[in-house]
Amino acid sequence: MAGLLENKVAIITGAAAGIGRAAATLFAGEGARVMVSDIDEAGGARSAQMLREAGHEVAFYKADVSDASQVQGLVARTIDAFGRVDCAVNNAGIEGSIANLAECGDDNFDRILRVNLRGTYLCMKYEITAMLTRGGGTIVNTASIAGLIGFAGIPAYVASKHGIVGLTKNAAIEYGKQHIRVNAVCPGAIDTRMLDSLAEQLGSDDASELLAPSHPIGRIGRPIEVAELMLWLCSDRASFMNGAIIPVDGAYVAQ
Ligand code: NAD
Repeated sequence: MAGLLENKVAIITGAAAGIGRAAATLFAGEGARVMVSDIDEAGGARSAQMLREAGHEVAFYKADVSDASQVQGLVARTIDAFGRVDCAVNNAGIEGSIANLAECGDDNFDRILRVNLRGTYLCMKYEITAMLTRGGGTIVNTASIAGLIGFAGIPAYVASKHGIVGLTKNAAIEYGKQHIRVNAVCPGAIDTRMLDSLAEQLGSDDASELLAPSHPIGRIGRPIEVAELMLWLCSDRASFMNGAIIPVDGAYVAQ
């Protein structure tokens, strides 16, 4: 049976680990040729190598998403390698340091906004430019439940993820008629390095123990559970999905 992304070309940022690596693995398994990208060269190359060993057609490009010329390079390299860009998952992000707003370091604020919001903006800008040339495409941005509601202690992260939700809605209404669909996923707590870092800053060495009770489903999520939603949104099955902001959070924001 043909995969959901057979003959598609996908860019996935933040694919050295966590949710991005899970998405790269799932997308490749569903037939996509995947451009794995990350600022972490060793981890990104490892993701690509794992997929290559499993028989998939993949490449790795190191890019800092907050740098316009590197993002331009990522899109150009993808077109060189695979001929076009059909799908993009803008997933690279950082958590920064925990502090309430009055104690939030200005550097911390700037760094989080630069990577999470400006990074997503730059990726969308060059991906959409390439998709317009081809006549369409699909984009999924990784927002967060922190893009839907506030969380004490992470004001810059919350602002950056709310910003991603705004950019997603805007691009959806700007480019829908040109066959580009843009949606965002809003994960709850997912078992990755980022969650471990946040838990550690809160004095816990067990992110699951700390955060599972606040999720009505009774546990934290797995990266693959976010990747499955990304896959569906990128596939032709989701052909009327545009500008949707979808929690994948075990009912966290339903409370
Ligand atoms: P992660 O730390 O494992 O993955 C993030 C990846 O982004 C890393 O591989 C990192 O190297 C990369 N990255 C960081 N800065 C970059 C930059 N400037 N340019 C390119 N790549 C960069 O964490 P994750 O949980 O897999 O995070 C993936 C996305 O999911 C992030 O956008 C995060 O905000 C979001 N998210 C995570 C959770 C969670 O609980 N883990 C919840 C909601 C949203």
